[in-house]
Amino acid sequence: MSFESLGLAPALLRALSEQGYTTPTPIQAEAIPLVLAGHDLLGGAQTGTGKTAAFSLPILNKLSKQTPVRGPRKPRVLVLVPTRELAVQVNDNIRGYARHLHVSTCTIFGGAGMGPQVDALRRGVDVLVATPGRLIDHMERGSVRLDAIEVLVMDEADRMLDMGFLPAIKRVLAKLPRQRQTLLFSATFEAQLKALALEFMHEPKQVQV
Ligand code: AMP
Repeated sequence: MSFESLGLAPALLRALSEQGYTTPTPIQAEAIPLVLAGHDLLGGAQTGTGKTAAFSLPILNKLSKQTPVRGPRKPRVLVLVPTRELAVQVNDNIRGYARHLHVSTCTIFGGAGMGPQVDALRRGVDVLVATPGRLIDHMERGSVRLDAIEVLVMDEADRMLDMGFLPAIKRVLAKLPRQRQTLLFSATFEAQLKALALEFMHEPKQVQV
């Protein structure tokens, strides 16, 4: 199994080889074809399994096939994460994979000033990595619009629920286009999380590593 055989764009393959990735991890090998095919996905995976690339690479592949839009643009991909640290890490990973693509990313999280985040959103962004509480703040201020979102990722969903983000997540979900792809990653699947998946996902495929 190789990244080439998964059918990823040359610009992504180049970035991967520059970063020393040679072989997809098990979750990447399973998830990438499903996401490329447009399925919703429930991924059972801990950190350290390569789950970030498992969702980022097929999403970036999809963005790479579309003509770049000039000027300010609304986010098309939303990645919800529980913490600032994970937001920064996921964003750094996505930037690394997207280094040869015309894709702009931005992070928004609590505990940092709103100003620079508002400015970044105003400049236009394709991929937005956000913690749920701060995303709600931006939605209330009108500094972000989510009506162009094509893919939603919920990363470490169990941790987001443990931290009490379920109401915020539901408020965000209510603002997203119904026609979208939804990917959810979690180490555990408690009843509350299963209910969320059932309500907001469309016939998800499951991968477990
Ligand atoms: P994650 O589980 O997404 O936090 O990834 C764990 C670490 O593995 C990160 O530092 C990634 O950069 C790295 N990684 C992910 N996929 C691969 C791969 N296929 N080959 C080598 N390193 C990888």
